[in-house]
Amino acid sequence: MLVRDEAAKLAGEIAELRQAIHREPEIGLDLPKTQRKVLDALAGLPLEVSTGKAVSSVTAVLRGGRPGPVVLLRGDMDALPVTEATGLPYASTVPGVMHACGHDLHTAMLAGAARLLCARQADLPGTVIFMFQPGEEGHAGARHMISEGVLDAAGERPVAAYGLHVSSSKLGCGVFSTRPGPMLAAADQITVTVHGRGGHASQPHRAADPIPAACEMVLALQTMVTRKFDVFDPVVITVGSFHAGTTDNVIPDEARFLATARSYSASSRTALAEEVPRLIKDIAGAHGLTADAEYAAEYPVTINDATEAEFALQTIADAFGPGRGQRAQFPITGAEDFSFVLEEVPGAFVFLGACPPDRDPETAPTNHSARAAFDDAALAEGTALYAELALRRLAQG
Ligand SMILES: [Zn+2]
Ligand SMILES: [Zn+2]
Repeated sequence: MLVRDEAAKLAGEIAELRQAIHREPEIGLDLPKTQRKVLDALAGLPLEVSTGKAVSSVTAVLRGGRPGPVVLLRGDMDALPVTEATGLPYASTVPGVMHACGHDLHTAMLAGAARLLCARQADLPGTVIFMFQPGEEGHAGARHMISEGVLDAAGERPVAAYGLHVSSSKLGCGVFSTRPGPMLAAADQITVTVHGRGGHASQPHRAADPIPAACEMVLALQTMVTRKFDVFDPVVITVGSFHAGTTDNVIPDEARFLATARSYSASSRTALAEEVPRLIKDIAGAHGLTADAEYAAEYPVTINDATEAEFALQTIADAFGPGRGQRAQFPITGAEDFSFVLEEVPGAFVFLGACPPDRDPETAPTNHSARAAFDDAALAEGTALYAELALRRLAQG
């Protein structure tokens, strides 16, 4: 039987698991209820299952009946601090927490793929590691799992690693998209505190006002992006938080702001880490003030291995037919901690459209929106792709 047909037969139970996870979303690195659901879904399968020590991860190893290499499949499991406004029958029952990025689908699809591949264990030429990961949304859960040994869970390193991500907009339901090279940006955080000297707002010359200097820094960062970085190696800086003062007639002691920096190459990222603090400190100095500028590295660039991305596109074409796979023209400015896996193992990260049929992908609410919705119709497709990638890659040796 075709893998797609087998996945379609499992669609009901995959959707049941997905909806159960969706109803009880959890945030961060500690997801005990989600972990329990995954363990229950894997129970009875011929897998070596282990759980994380510092984080609530699940690692499952399937050893095939024939010799061959190791392949890793990853699904993330965590939700976001969003109050769900979809009105779906299986909407979140936890106030202020929602699976707004579709990680509930990834978890359910990966469990479905485990079931499907276990049924083929005897003929499987190699080993599959299933990586169920907490804390993708800013907690670097993948890095924690790597330090706890997920990449060595089978006794030897994987030859390839694949991750899937659903999208509530842009892509039509069931359409896959990937590209060789940079797929998602590096994301770093800039934290700035400008130190002045407060006083009466009517006598600024007797104080040291941090606000105009901080405003100048916000604009200078944008100028820096256009003057210091190659337009063909893009950089995005957005100041998303800016705080100073309490009222109109008091000059505060301090102004603070936070910014995110996105980049697509190690050289741009290194340059950002050097240029941003220097610019901030020099502007402060020009005004006779001081400033602290911290550039904190968060997630690296998610770089698809060229061969593995081509292999994924070929697998999509072979398994799903023409028109189902798109070669993405540009990377995405979002970031992913699957990047930490791809720093160690060649692989590919693939997007899967899950826009519900009653919405236009062009205008549908995006991932992270309180109204983001992901169609269960995508579940069998994602499950099938996970399984096809493992089967075909193992067959290559
Ligand atoms: Zn997300
Ligand atoms: Zn996500």
